[in-house]
Amino acid sequence: MTNENTPAPVGRDREDQLSFGNPVTQFESMSAPEQHQEEPGLDVELTPFPDRGEESYRGTGRLKGRRALVTGGDSGIGAAVAIAFAREGADVAITYLPQEERDAQEIKRLIEAEGRTAVLVPGDLTDREFSRTLPGKAVAGLGGLDILVNNAGKQISVPSLQELTDEQVEETFDVNILAMFRVTRAALEHLPAGSSIINTTSVQAYSPSGHLLDYATTKGAINAFTKGLAEQLAPKGVRVNAVAPGPIWSVLQVTDGQPKEKLPKFGKDTWLGRAGQPVELAPAYVFLASSESSYVVGETLNVNGGQQTP
Ligand code: NAD
Ligand code: MG
Repeated sequence: MTNENTPAPVGRDREDQLSFGNPVTQFESMSAPEQHQEEPGLDVELTPFPDRGEESYRGTGRLKGRRALVTGGDSGIGAAVAIAFAREGADVAITYLPQEERDAQEIKRLIEAEGRTAVLVPGDLTDREFSRTLPGKAVAGLGGLDILVNNAGKQISVPSLQELTDEQVEETFDVNILAMFRVTRAALEHLPAGSSIINTTSVQAYSPSGHLLDYATTKGAINAFTKGLAEQLAPKGVRVNAVAPGPIWSVLQVTDGQPKEKLPKFGKDTWLGRAGQPVELAPAYVFLASSESSYVVGETLNVNGGQQTP
């Protein structure tokens, strides 16, 4: 029942997303069709197309003059973060696999549309030399660096430990956590006091799915890495925090991140009853990147549609 004192039900147009909205209906509760792409996949071929904030994210200058590197910034959550950072006034470098050039070019276009500098650094984070030299390349393009978002990730669903190969376990660890050590270590040469490091972990760190054993284990490790490094770097004025997304509609899910038959129900078991969109993550990263969160250190911010977390 609605009356004049009750807000009308909201849809998901741009004004609704920005103004007073019911989080249950603010974004569509979609049933994604079964689909498959080869890893790493492309947002431009994802159905439905994910909302990375192209139409809705509005900046308020909270990252004016800042310089950010976002790994996996071509698509999904990383793309939403790159767009939001640019709209908050930051110059942004993104890194991604060479096969993702089409997605990356679109994010570059969106960053430049804000009058900001976009730097594209394609490469493979499992390549030790590439991950070690990546921050320097971002600095060369941006003229400095004060925000690092370690967001690249690999997720392949495998039903049982017997079927999970050593090769997959090692590759998942390499991309998700070992590269994070390498990239962050190299970035420290450049990050001044006041910088912020934000790592993408997952609700899987607390609530691991049996079919994502290797992936969930890396996400637990990312939480530990975040808290330990936060203690190390806090006295130097560099804050380290993490964001733990829940089920977010991204190409990761259709590149064997989920069993195909699970896609139509993806995200429906959260308290809000729907999957999240990448844009819904962006404000968490902006908050942790900006000096508004000056007293937030070693924290994991959950953005998961409602699920029990420690
Ligand atoms: P995505 O596929 O859009 O982003 C992942 C990115 O990782 C890719 O775009 C790719 O550029 C990068 N990547 C993967 N392997 C790489 C490699 N070897 N070298 C360099 N880059 C590589 O999917 P997303 O969902 O936006 O994922 C972003 C992060 O969010 C990941 O860390 C993921 O684990 C995490 N996460 C996602 C969800 C979700 O439901 N989508 C939930 C929790 C956490
Ligand atoms: Mg991608």
